[in-house]
Amino acid sequence: MNRWVYLFSEGSKEQRDLLGGKGANLAEMTKLGLPVPTGFTVTTEACLYYLNHGDQLTDEVKNQVMTAVEQLSVKTGKKFGDLNNPLLVSVRSGSKFSMPGMMDTVLNLGLNDQTVAALASNSQNERFAYDCYRRLLQMFGNVVLGLDNSIFESRITALKKENGLSFDNELTADHWKQIVSEYKGIYREELQREFPQDPIEQLYLAIEAVFGSWNNARAKTYRRLHGISDDLGTAVNIQEMVFGNFGETSGTGVVFSRNPSLGDPGLFGEYLINAQGEDVVAGVRTPKPIQVLAEDMPEQFNQLKAICENLETHYQDMQDVEFTIEREKLFILQTRSGKRTSKAALRILLDFFNEGIISEEALVNRIEGKDLEAALHPNFDEAALKRRVSFLSGLAASPGAATGAAYFSADAATEAKARGERVVLVREETSPEDIEGIAISEAVITSRGGMTSHAAVVARGMGICSVVGCERLTVMENENKAMVGDEMIEEGTVLSVDGSSGKVYFGEIPMEEVGHTVALDELHAIWDRHAAIKVRANAETPKDIETGMALGAVGIGLARTEHMFFEKTRLLQFRRLILADSLAERLEVLKELKTVQKQDFKYMYEAAKGRPTTIRLLDPPLHEFLPKNAEECREVAKELGKTFNEVKRKTDNLAEVNPMLGFRGLRLGVAYPEIYQMQAEAIIEAACEVREEQAFSIQPEIMIPFTIDAGEFAHVRQAIEEAIQKNLRHNQTTLDYQIGTMIEIPRACFVADQIAQYADFFSFGTNDLTQMALGLSRDDSPRIVTQYLDVGIFEDDPFQVLDKAGVGALMKLAIERGRKVNPQLKIGVCGEAAAHPKSIDFLYELGIDYISCSPFRIPQAKMTLAKATVENVLS
Ligand code: ADP
Ligand code: MG
Ligand code: MG
Repeated sequence: MNRWVYLFSEGSKEQRDLLGGKGANLAEMTKLGLPVPTGFTVTTEACLYYLNHGDQLTDEVKNQVMTAVEQLSVKTGKKFGDLNNPLLVSVRSGSKFSMPGMMDTVLNLGLNDQTVAALASNSQNERFAYDCYRRLLQMFGNVVLGLDNSIFESRITALKKENGLSFDNELTADHWKQIVSEYKGIYREELQREFPQDPIEQLYLAIEAVFGSWNNARAKTYRRLHGISDDLGTAVNIQEMVFGNFGETSGTGVVFSRNPSLGDPGLFGEYLINAQGEDVVAGVRTPKPIQVLAEDMPEQFNQLKAICENLETHYQDMQDVEFTIEREKLFILQTRSGKRTSKAALRILLDFFNEGIISEEALVNRIEGKDLEAALHPNFDEAALKRRVSFLSGLAASPGAATGAAYFSADAATEAKARGERVVLVREETSPEDIEGIAISEAVITSRGGMTSHAAVVARGMGICSVVGCERLTVMENENKAMVGDEMIEEGTVLSVDGSSGKVYFGEIPMEEVGHTVALDELHAIWDRHAAIKVRANAETPKDIETGMALGAVGIGLARTEHMFFEKTRLLQFRRLILADSLAERLEVLKELKTVQKQDFKYMYEAAKGRPTTIRLLDPPLHEFLPKNAEECREVAKELGKTFNEVKRKTDNLAEVNPMLGFRGLRLGVAYPEIYQMQAEAIIEAACEVREEQAFSIQPEIMIPFTIDAGEFAHVRQAIEEAIQKNLRHNQTTLDYQIGTMIEIPRACFVADQIAQYADFFSFGTNDLTQMALGLSRDDSPRIVTQYLDVGIFEDDPFQVLDKAGVGALMKLAIERGRKVNPQLKIGVCGEAAAHPKSIDFLYELGIDYISCSPFRIPQAKMTLAKATVENVLS
């Protein structure tokens, strides 16, 4: 016999596959001794069996359900259909992954015309009993029998209007009785049937409806958007009812164990007195912040707080908890990992670590790239924001900032997006049907609903900024417009939305530049402790170096000295150098250049604050520096005091058919050793001076680019060393330095053992090495690569993700050969591909010491490297 049913007391949190997330957690909380109403779970296997066998519950399943119902009766002393003490249950779906709002719940099942009277007299609260009954009729009609909820709601609205009332809780017992009879009429009119009076029949129909709902359109969309398999099925939880709608000492609410927007510690949520089920989320009345409960019902608040803390520690995660208070007694109805913003995710993990809830390894492991990325995302520029006045405000439901054109339906938004617009979805409130529309929007604004409303939860989950509950906003969805006082938002009106402050502005607001946050500093220290491969920055200007350091670089892996000559006055000096006619003229320019370069290097060392610094000698693809046309030649001639013809002739002479394979790197060093000598002297003198002034110890790493051959490297190294030694002798000082090479040419990989005899370190330049190894020009490749990706020839762009089979194999070979000769050989990799998360595993196999990448990629790279190390250690 198969087992299709488990009591809550029999399961545990590990059984999410079988019991669904909700069921597994209800079981776990029961095991922990928390006040969970008793119940049982019909398994996901039963669901799949049902769906695959003609949508029918088998007798075996039914029998097991009945046995469990009997056990429920024993525990509660209540029975289905009993006229003294009727058993009422909720029927709740719950699959492995939480799918908020996807499959609906039926409450108060077990009520009928007889038991409702019993409930009324037992509770001495007729109003309550008939409120429960009308809810059952409504939910059963909607969820199980597929009637539109608005058919039911419109009756309540009409009744309130008739009586001049605003809120549901103002309706009396007689009102609800009237509603009950109207609802029964709806069953007859719409379905030509009676509401089923037999609780068992109600139960089977509800279970079948939940199973069937696995395949409804909303559920499918949600699964598709979140990459959840269609083969999991949903479980059904059947649970004794507790009543938050019993009166003024009852209520229901939703709390997060920490703030899901910002991550601050402390309960965060909302509750409603005298309410049931989803009243809080549905926006029937405006809920009160959970902190008010501390004053209203301090005992229950403290109990709830203690339970949340307990659950957090137990699950080692922030929890999203549903609770109900029935006549002052607290019940917990659900717990699950809470959805949170990226900002909150980072903050919470760090706090967990600092509070001793999780280990440092768990912290490293659990930080996700997307959260880190989003935490680094820009907000509106603060100064620009100050000058603007918002015309609308609401609850800051999901932080971030975005600008887009307003659209009033998911479909219109989707169409606009397809036309290439950035859109802001503006709605009264959202529902699961809107999910696709939300997913493609930059921001979501609603006029109704609180912090736990559908729009708020979904937007936070998707990392989309959102402002909800904008009370002054009147959305006229059918007319494709909205009003805020006198001001109108039309389709296409550009809005800027600040999800962190809850403010909305007309027009576009510029975004702020990305900065680093306090939490990042702490993370960097932790990553540094774990990552086996260090991360340095590609940076040469003081600003880039500072950004790199602020974003966690342990040093500079690549300072490109040619970048120091892009600025206008520098460019002129540089042109004078390459256009010089004689050694004497060159030496004269070099003397001037040495002064500026030395200053450059001093700034660099100071910004790097003693961290290792690799400076690459000039590698100018000449075409980037030569005058580009006759007019530029004329200008340059004038500025350099040469004739036009002289400059033109020299430029033509130097012009190359293929500059990428031309007079680059070491070719320049061989032809004009005095240039590299000048740079080396500037590097050394700057280091000596900064060492004196700042008391950093500095060991410059001088890097020679574009080496082809060991003899070539040795030749230039010797020239450089002579200059350095002479300089040090002259200044009567000493300094440790290293001279190494970039490995960017396939031949250098093959002769790496020879080169390693002369080089102190290798640094792979993957951009050039990829260009050379694949024979694809860096400048022209996008067209080709896109095509190859489309056709499926390439899985990834080799300039973005390291090409392991080709470029990677060359690197491996070079490292093996190099280290055979020089086991101490320090090895770095610079180039964007190295920092890509998909390249990291391979870098581990290579056994390199550091990677170097552009400053903004550093946090992500460090995170990935630390995670990879922790995973290696743990596995
Ligand atoms: P969802 O997965 O959409 O959150 P739930 O099954 O958790 O659906 O339930 C919807 C609402 O009904 C929640 O507010 C929940 O607290 C409430 N509810 C569920 N079961 C019970 C019960 N046994 N007693 C009282 N309220 C319940
Ligand atoms: Mg729901
Ligand atoms: Mg729930």
